[in-house]
Amino acid sequence: MRLFFAITVLLLGVTQPAQAQDKQQGKQAMLLLRPRAVFDGSSAMPHEGWSVLVRGNRIDAVGPGLTPPPDATVVDLPGATLMPGLIEGHSHLFLHPYDETSWDDQVLHEPLALRTARATVAARATLLAGFTTVRDLGTEGAGYADAGLKKAIEQGIVPGPRMLVATRALVAPGAYGPRGFEPGIQTPLGAEEAGGPDLVTAVRRQIAAGADVIKLYADYRWGTGEPSRPTFSQAEMAAAVEAAHSAGREVAAHAATDEGMRRAIAAGVDTIEHGYGGSAETFALMRKQGVGYCPTLAASDATARYRGWNGAEPAPETVRASREAFARALAAGVTICLGGDVGVYAHGDNAREAELMVAGGMSAAKVLITATSGNAAMFGIGDKLGAVRTGMLADLVAVEGDPTRDIGAIRNVRFVMKDGVVYRGASEAP
Ligand SMILES: [Zn+2]
Repeated sequence: MRLFFAITVLLLGVTQPAQAQDKQQGKQAMLLLRPRAVFDGSSAMPHEGWSVLVRGNRIDAVGPGLTPPPDATVVDLPGATLMPGLIEGHSHLFLHPYDETSWDDQVLHEPLALRTARATVAARATLLAGFTTVRDLGTEGAGYADAGLKKAIEQGIVPGPRMLVATRALVAPGAYGPRGFEPGIQTPLGAEEAGGPDLVTAVRRQIAAGADVIKLYADYRWGTGEPSRPTFSQAEMAAAVEAAHSAGREVAAHAATDEGMRRAIAAGVDTIEHGYGGSAETFALMRKQGVGYCPTLAASDATARYRGWNGAEPAPETVRASREAFARALAAGVTICLGGDVGVYAHGDNAREAELMVAGGMSAAKVLITATSGNAAMFGIGDKLGAVRTGMLADLVAVEGDPTRDIGAIRNVRFVMKDGVVYRGASEAP
């Protein structure tokens, strides 16, 4: 017996999504998903002929030859690979591409309500692209609106990914933008300024306001046109990390210089973002200390294109620097995070970072492992997300073809389920 399943794609929030949870009847509905193969999040080879049974919001059974229970709805996904929902490690849902509006103008001139409305659209695009979780590393001037957006998604008001939010992010006073105004005049900033003992207070305040992760800028440009230089002292960062870790929050450090990375590593941060200037020795230290690395290759690529690069080789210096840093990190055996700094480029185009990681020398299967079980473990959510395994939360995505051979397949998303709710699904004729 084979039912064909027509699912309402939740786009406008008007219709209720199909859900494997039937609250009216007081019992948990079941869906049996039958793709061509299952990529489980950790083994490089997809399992051909496996099916996945979802009960409520959990994976109930996984394996070959599952017989549909009598009440289960069967969803056939011929030709598709089913995998864990992808996890974006570095997003900014409150930013939109800089070729639409410059970062300065977004921070200075876009009202919070406009930015929040746009962020709901970004969240939906992200989810429908198969990214069911994001670590959103700062609202860039939009206050604590990420914590509010996260609640709206959790309450089913707008569709979007699970969010780990950083709220405002923390910078040393004077070390961030937008800049170029009369000194002493208060202008909007892309992050919260704090230093010395106040930095610890600011960490705690952000946690109280909903931060799941603390983001510190270990370095930045002190003036327009300057190269990046360290901002916080190592003692400041160590105190901030201690305050965050005491509260059970991880710390992500923006660091583009070798010295900024060194201080962040010594301070005990969990991940380093960008790391373009990291030496082989520093990446070796990251490996030793178990610090993760988000190379944000797509951000460098996008920014160079906004400045006129057409993609031809030789690539501009900034693109080459990010590629070379990625190569050094791979050679050192650093745990890589998939995190592209999406928001610099379009939300929903999260696959771009995965493609550039493959171009940079990682196998497609390794990139997929990174984007699922790898990121989940790195962000402390590996006990419930990032794997297709009995008992895990039902965040599942099906794509056409085999993404372990061709990473581009993750662009052809056919089915998206988050927490047992189907947001994108096949409605095929028998
Ligand atoms: Zn970023």
